[in-house]
Amino acid sequence: MPETVYQRVVLKLSGEALAGEGGIGLDFPRVRSLARDLGALTRLGTELLLVIGGGNLLRGRSARESGVPPVQADRIGMLGTVMNALALSAALDAEGVPVLALNATPLEPFAALYTPERARAALADGKVVIAAGGIGQPFFSTDTTAALRAVEVEADCLLKATTVDGVFSGDPRKDPQAVRLPRLSYDEVLERQLAVMDATAFALCREHAVPVRVFNFMEPGALERVLKGEPLGSLVSEKERQR
Ligand code: UDP
Repeated sequence: MPETVYQRVVLKLSGEALAGEGGIGLDFPRVRSLARDLGALTRLGTELLLVIGGGNLLRGRSARESGVPPVQADRIGMLGTVMNALALSAALDAEGVPVLALNATPLEPFAALYTPERARAALADGKVVIAAGGIGQPFFSTDTTAALRAVEVEADCLLKATTVDGVFSGDPRKDPQAVRLPRLSYDEVLERQLAVMDATAFALCREHAVPVRVFNFMEPGALERVLKGEPLGSLVSEKERQR
C-alpha cells in the first residue's frame, strides 16, 4: 500500500509557521523543527513544493498604512518571503534534505529564478522546492502564488496550512452554531461566501479544478496525516458538496 495518496502537492505555509511567539519575526529553533518535520515527510515520496508567505516579517498592508506607497510596500513584503525561504532552505540543507529555493524575480545569487520547468525538474529529482517572492508582482498574495504554482506544476492538491481546523459555516469565534464543513464544492464556497483563500487564489483553483485542502498545521502530525489521505480539515473541489 502506498504511503501517500499524492504524487505532487503545493503546500502554502504562512510566514507565521517560521515565527516565534506572537507570529512575529524568524524563530530559528522553530525553523529547524519545521525543517526536521518536513524532512521526515519526504520519505513518503510526495513531491513537495512549498510556497512561503512573509506575514511574520511584513505585510504590504501594514507598510501602506504607515504611508509607504503600495508598490514599494508590497515589494518589501515579497522580500520578506525571500528571507523566510532562505532560512527554511538553510535548515532543510542542514537536515540533509535536498532543497532548491527559487524566486519569482531575478535575485541571484540568493536564489535562482523560478520557472515552472525548473521547479518540475527539481521535484522530479527528489528536491523540496521553495517558491519565494510571491508571483513577483504587487497587489497579490502568497495564497495566489500557491494557487498559480499548483496550476503550473499540475499539483494533485493545494494544501493550505492554517491555524484553524478547516472551513467553517461561520466565524467559530463569534457564532457558536458554526460547524466545520468537511467537503465543499467551489460553487458552494462562492454561494455561501465562505473564507477559504483570497478571491484571486480561489478563482485560479476553481478555473483549473485544483482541489484545496485547508487544515490545521499546528496540530502535531497533521501534514503527515493529510499526505497519507486522512480527511483532516476541509476539502474544496469540483465535485464535493456538503451533504
Ligand atoms: N506579496 C506581493 N505579491 C505577491 C505575494 C506577496 O506583493 O505575489 C507581498 C504582500 O505585501 C504580502 C507580503 O508579500 O502582504 C507577504 O505575503 P503574505 O501576506 O501572503 O504572507 P502570509 O500572510 O502568508 O505570511
